[in-house]
Amino acid sequence: MATSVGSVVWVLGGLVLMVVLWKTGMAMLNALSAPPAPPPEPGELRKMNVRYRCDVCGVELRLTLAPDEDPPPPKHCLEEMIIVAPLFE
Ligand SMILES: [Zn+2]
Repeated sequence: MATSVGSVVWVLGGLVLMVVLWKTGMAMLNALSAPPAPPPEPGELRKMNVRYRCDVCGVELRLTLAPDEDPPPPKHCLEEMIIVAPLFE
């Protein structure tokens, strides 16, 4: 009966390997599908005072809160808006 015990061990080993691979794969999938960074809480936003102007139509807007100190410029008329002047209070 040594051969049957050996095949049971092989089957068990294969099952364990499958579970390990499956868990690893799921963990990798989770890591890949997870968003790169969760949006910060409102309390973590930095107060800013930067004015942007659309170079195409001339509209201006003021940015007062941003998740980091150097946020990407907003877009208007399919173009990135340009910084008019950072205003420090
Ligand atoms: Zn515009």
